[in-house]
Amino acid sequence: MEIEPPLLSHVEKVAFIGVHACDLQAIHVLDRVFKSELCAHPSYLQRRDNVLIVALDCTSASRCCFCASMGSGPDAKEGYDLALTEVAEGKDHFFIIRPGSSLGEALLEALSLPAASHAESEWARSLVEKNKEEMVRQVDNSRVPEMLKKSWLYKSWDSVAQRCINCTNCTLACPTCFCSQAEERVSLDGAQADHVQSWESCFNLSHSYVHGGSVRFSPRARYRQWLTHKFGTWWDQFGLSGCVGCGRCITWCPVGIDVTEELNKLQMEADHASS
Ligand code: SF4
Ligand code: SF4
Repeated sequence: MEIEPPLLSHVEKVAFIGVHACDLQAIHVLDRVFKSELCAHPSYLQRRDNVLIVALDCTSASRCCFCASMGSGPDAKEGYDLALTEVAEGKDHFFIIRPGSSLGEALLEALSLPAASHAESEWARSLVEKNKEEMVRQVDNSRVPEMLKKSWLYKSWDSVAQRCINCTNCTLACPTCFCSQAEERVSLDGAQADHVQSWESCFNLSHSYVHGGSVRFSPRARYRQWLTHKFGTWWDQFGLSGCVGCGRCITWCPVGIDVTEELNKLQMEADHASS
């Protein structure tokens, strides 16, 4: 029997202020998932329809960021109502604001702000461009998805599996990891049964449990599944990458695993195998 997720009886209007380009793209990725026929989620759609987004271009990346190579940043491209670029140099401090929707246009008009000069706009743009050029980590999206499809037996999976402790941190920090589990909770007297949906991580053994055992029983299989889905098969499912280059999984991995390094190692192994 198929169970329809319930609709929310009341949805607050919410404003997201200062959304960076990577997280803007993450919202777009989640929209592709939860607005698709495959996994349409009514309460997600209800909340999504009540969100105002004020984006903020990045003029200073962390050392873990690689949004430029994922095509998601550092500037906000679409999916916002208003987008800000902050200029803060010396005694100069101002914001350039651009609208991205009819609601954003109406808000901007209501604020009656002075128009930016050409020089101010160019100054703001140059800070974003400089940030883009300074980002050192990269993923080659033109090759990675195809490479991952053939990587099943690569030795690099063994070495990363020896370091990964399956703590689930990367999936908890990732803005596009949406996996969940469902469980039935029945009261002791049997009078009430609740169907509960909660977060789940593909690094947990139980996540791939099907009748009689877990399909991905080794840490190698679980890490391979995560990286391959995020950077490879997500394209086949939803027509875009599941990674937005925010770098959080690198920042929060307690053993220092870096997805960009792991993908480079796998690519080198693929290149070596084909030479
Ligand atoms: S895989 Fe890592 S870098 Fe990519 S979106 Fe998730 S947390 Fe960010
Ligand atoms: S955060 Fe690091 S150690 Fe933890 S599951 Fe992810 S890759 Fe493995």
